[in-house]
Formats: sequence, structure tokens, C-alpha cells
Amino acid sequence: MIKVIDLHKNFKNLHVLKGINLNVSKGEVVVIIGPSGSGKSTLLRCLNKLEESNSGEILFKDISVTNCKNGINKIRQDMGMVFQNFNLFPHMTVLENITLAPIKIKKMDKKQAEDIGFKLLGRVGLSDKANSYPNQLSGGQKQRVAIARALAMSPDLMLFDEPTSALDPEMVGEVLEVMKQLAAEGMTMIIVTHEMTFARQVADRVIFMDDGVILEEGSPEEFFTNPKNQRAQDFLKRVV
Ligand code: ADP
Ligand code: MG
Repeated sequence: MIKVIDLHKNFKNLHVLKGINLNVSKGEVVVIIGPSGSGKSTLLRCLNKLEESNSGEILFKDISVTNCKNGINKIRQDMGMVFQNFNLFPHMTVLENITLAPIKIKKMDKKQAEDIGFKLLGRVGLSDKANSYPNQLSGGQKQRVAIARALAMSPDLMLFDEPTSALDPEMVGEVLEVMKQLAAEGMTMIIVTHEMTFARQVADRVIFMDDGVILEEGSPEEFFTNPKNQRAQDFLKRVV
């Protein structure tokens, strides 16, 4: 599904990604963990070209993201992204948020987009919120709408950047539940999270990043019971 080869990213003098290599297969759930500032968000943002990388290559379904000239919108349509802070459009209803991209970008007719929107709202448990505005929703509900909105484009890959970090603790579970469901349905997912129990439950593979490099990767079982890298061990001691 996606292949990252020796990816480097600098912000001026700051070398943030220092040679990332990563392959994610169709249907795989990869969880990325690591200390704050290690480059996790930058990596996700490079994958869909919200950030321009400096060298290396990214292939998405065998198409180059890094060298694409004008096909980035097509690539982004197939890669859904969910952010920490939801990024919903505040002046649009829930249903309008979800149907906007299918109508504008996929040129879907409104009725069909709304049918899909209602189905997705059912899937995330928010059928009764179609006509609400984001500011009428809880954080957990907003994030579930953001997930439904990303799914409305029928992506092949979903990127999640700390989707529960901005939520009150009692709302974390409902969002993780939706993500677990997606994983069970076979969605390919790359998830940055600090939720270790969740990571252990849903990940096919865990990746530990620190200071712009991948220091360790393995099955959740291996990684959480017997991390080999010293910095991974120290990190786990602090967070688990
Ligand atoms: P993480 O998501 O692992 O916490 P980030 O990818 O957000 O880490 O950040 C990695 C490093 O890059 C940090 O030192 C951060 O300050 C820096 N950084 C991130 N975005 C920018 C930016 N737009 N401009 C300059 N520095 C940035
Ligand atoms: Mg981050």
C-alpha cells in the first residue's frame, strides 16, 4: 500500500526525519509511538504531502508521492487523515462536513453523498447528529464525525495523528472503538497514538520512533513484552 524509502525532512537547520524506511501492506495496522518531537506527525504529513520531504521516496500504491507533479489531489483522495484537533468546518452541519469532499471533489450527486453520509454516521454511532453543528458536539463526537468524513472518500489508507489526545478521558474509548471496528473490517491504517493498551490490541506492527529515526519495530507482543532498544525500554517505562 505504501512504501517509504530513506526519507529525510528538514525544517531549515533542523533535521527532523533522518532516513525513514517503512512498508505498510494492504490491510495492515501499523501503530507509531515515540516521544514528543520525534517526528511522528512530520512523517504522517509527508505521506500525503502536507509537508514536502527533502530526499528519499514515498510510493503509494506504486505511484510516487514525492515526485508527483499534479496528481497529489488524486493521491490525497485515497488517503484519509484524522488529526488531533478534528479540523471540522464549523459553519457546516455534520452531514455537510461529510458530504463536502465527495460532492466537490468526486463530483458525486448530493443525494448519493448524503446516503453514504447517513450510512457512515450510523457506523460511528451518530445517526441523530446529521444536522448538528460541530460546536454542538462533544470532542468524542467531533472526532467520530472527522473519521466518518475521511471514510466518505472511500480511502485505501487511513492516517491517524493522535486522534484521542485532545479528548477528555471519558471520550477516548468511543473513538478507539470506531478505530478498532475499522481495523477489524480490514482498513489499512497508520496510527500515531499514546494509547498503549489500544496499540497492543489493534496493531499488527508497532514502530518506535525517536529523534527522526525508527529505532525498533515488531509485533505488539514482542515490542511491549521485550523491547530491545534502550530508548524504547525507557519510553515504555514512562508511559505504561
Ligand atoms: P511528534 O509528532 O513526534 O511530536 P513532530 O513531527 O511534530 O514530532 O516534530 C518533530 C520536530 O520538528 C520538532 O522538533 C518540531 O518542533 C519540529 N517541527 C515540526 N513542524 C515544524 C514546522 N512546521 N517548522 C519548524 N519545525 C517544525
Ligand atoms: Mg505529533
